[in-house]
Amino acid sequence: MYGAVIHAPGDVRYEHREDPRLQQPTDAIIRLTASCVCGSDLWDYRGINPVTQPTPMGHEYVGIVEQVGAAVHNVKVGDFVVGSFFASDNTCEICQAGYQSRCMHLEFVGAGGAQSELLRVPLADGTLVATPGMPDPDLVPSLLAASDVLGTGWFGAVAAEVGPGKTVAVVGDGAVGLLAVLAAEQLGAKRIIAMSRHASRQNLAREFGATDIVEERGDAGVARIKELTGGLGAHSVIEAVGTQESMLQAIRSTRPGGHVGFVGVAHGVELPGEELFYAEVHLMGGPAPVRRFLPDLIERIWRREIDPGKVFDLTLPLSQAAEAYRAMDERRAIKVLLTPDGP
Ligand SMILES: [Zn+2]
Repeated sequence: MYGAVIHAPGDVRYEHREDPRLQQPTDAIIRLTASCVCGSDLWDYRGINPVTQPTPMGHEYVGIVEQVGAAVHNVKVGDFVVGSFFASDNTCEICQAGYQSRCMHLEFVGAGGAQSELLRVPLADGTLVATPGMPDPDLVPSLLAASDVLGTGWFGAVAAEVGPGKTVAVVGDGAVGLLAVLAAEQLGAKRIIAMSRHASRQNLAREFGATDIVEERGDAGVARIKELTGGLGAHSVIEAVGTQESMLQAIRSTRPGGHVGFVGVAHGVELPGEELFYAEVHLMGGPAPVRRFLPDLIERIWRREIDPGKVFDLTLPLSQAAEAYRAMDERRAIKVLLTPDGP
C-alpha cells in the first residue's frame, strides 16, 4: 500500500509502505475511505516535535473493515466504522468512567499511520463504532470529523460545562475551536463568543452558532470578553490552541466559579500558581476521550442535525499529502481531507 511518511520537518512523502497485518486477535484491519491532516501533525511538520526517523503520519480515519482478529465481535468485515486516535478496550474502570483516552490498555492508533490506504486498529471491539449502514458520500467528511476534531471540540465543551443559558468563549479558530462552537450550540449555550481574526473562519464560526466574534487576542482579547459579559467573564471557556498565551487567555476570560475546558495539546505551557489560586476557576482538559461521544455524534450526523464536515475546505488525493501539509502549515486551508488515489 501507499501512505504519507514524514522524513524531516517540512518533508512529507507519499511512499510505498508494508501492508498492515493482524498482530493480535483483538485487531482489525480497515480500508480507509478518508483521512486527514490534523493541527497536531503540524507540530511534527514544523519541527516542534522532533522527527528522529521516517514516521507514518495520520490518526483520523473512517473506513470499511477488511479483516478482524478471532476475538473481535462488535464489528465485522464490511462494516463502515469510525474510531478515535486512541485505541481503548472500553471496559476497564477508566473507560467505564468515560476517560477512554486514558484507558489502562491504551494504544495510539496513529502509530500505524492513518494517512494511508490500510490501517491496523488495535482493540477493535472497544475502539471502533460501526455506522447504521453504508453512509451517503456527503456524510463521509462529517463522520471523519467525528474521529478527532469534532470529538475533541465536543469534549472541550463538556469539560467547560457548557449548558443552557451559559455564555461560552472559544479560544482558537482551527478545526477544533470551530467545532467547539458547534458543540456549544448543540449543548444549548445562550451566547457563543468565537475568538478569530480570519474572515473565512469567522463565517464558519457563525454558521456553527457563534453569536459574537472577538478579533483581539491576549490581554486585549480578555478585556473584550469582559466587556461583552458585564465585567464578569464567560461561564465556560474552551481552549483549543495549546500555547502559553492561549491558555492564560482562556483562564483570564473565565468568571470566578466558571469552567475552562482545555483541549489544545499543551506545548510549553506553565501556569502561574498564585494567579491560578485567585482565579478560582475549574480546569479540565487533556486528550479527548472521543470514544465516549462517538455513538451520539454518529447519530447526530446520520440524522443530518449537524454538518461538522464543513471544516474540510480542501480535498486532495493521498498522493498529494505534501501539498496538504503545506496548505495547512500556511493556513491556506482550515483542514485538508485526503482520499485514496484508487487502483
Ligand atoms: Zn480501558
